[in-house]
Amino acid sequence: MRARPPVPRKALVKFKSVMDVELVQQLAADEMVCMAARVSTIGNTPQTYTREKNAGLINFLMRDRHGSPFEHGSFTFRISAPIFVCREFMRHRAGMSYNEESGRYRELEPVFYVPPGNRPLVQVGRAGKYDFQPGTFRQDLVAGEALRMAYTEAWTQYQTMLGEGIAREVARTVLPVGTYSTFYVTCNPRSLMHFLSLRTKSDGATYKSFPQVEIQMVADQMEEHFKTHMPMTHDTFVKHGRVAP
Ligand SMILES: Cc1cc2nc3c(=O)[nH]c(=O)nc-3n(C[C@H](O)[C@H](O)[C@H](O)COP(=O)(O)OP(=O)(O)OC[C@H]3O[C@@H](n4cnc5c(N)ncnc54)[C@H](O)[C@@H]3O)c2cc1C
Repeated sequence: MRARPPVPRKALVKFKSVMDVELVQQLAADEMVCMAARVSTIGNTPQTYTREKNAGLINFLMRDRHGSPFEHGSFTFRISAPIFVCREFMRHRAGMSYNEESGRYRELEPVFYVPPGNRPLVQVGRAGKYDFQPGTFRQDLVAGEALRMAYTEAWTQYQTMLGEGIAREVARTVLPVGTYSTFYVTCNPRSLMHFLSLRTKSDGATYKSFPQVEIQMVADQMEEHFKTHMPMTHDTFVKHGRVAP
């Protein structure tokens, strides 16, 4: 029988219950939405408008779903989240640009997702009309322990394969979807609103969505940045039932 490989390079497994969302770059403003919209009526004649006029225009654009003026801007986020969240995120195609860390070109980090204590664990109801409720003390314990044990074993086997000289792209296949990955995403305000409309759960939404808690943990942080940099647009988006124009 083959001896086990020498000490793994990254032996210390870490467990995390949060999503990291950092706004690394932004070029977005309510005024730009208004300038883009007004070119259709004033052409190349710069003019200044009051805050009220701008708010009124944004309200009209959002209400009547004139979406293209909301495309002149960009937000770039760096997001670290479990692979299953990245996978849900990257289903969003329109107006989204991505780059993600590679499991072929680098050794992955031993960071794994364990749900926070307040994460509902039990699904009740039927498909399409279900809800989630808190787990019992025992269910909390079982879930936490099962995940930690599985992650630790998966990481050990990953390291074993790397130690034997097996390529990273093959060794990584043993790692579960709870492994954290990091990616950049750049979007415009319109595509961001579309994303938020689907990946947040809100009583005020005209079309209610029921996203998985973990992607909502990402979306909520993105929405805070959106609100900071485009307060009028964000306000109007909320007022009109969170429907992307
Ligand atoms: C609660 C929830 C549950 C989900 N469950 C599942 C699931 O079980 N299985 C699954 O596979 N996915 C699932 N999804 C993913 C979902 O089907 C979408 O892929 C994802 O939400 C991205 O939405 P989108 O296509 O509107 O966004 P984007 O890809 O960003 O597209 C934005 C808009 O552009 C237009 N558009 C983009 N591409 C095209 C195209 N090729 N043709 C025509 N119009 C286009 C559409 O109007 C679209 O709404 C789920 C999503 C949510 C929010």
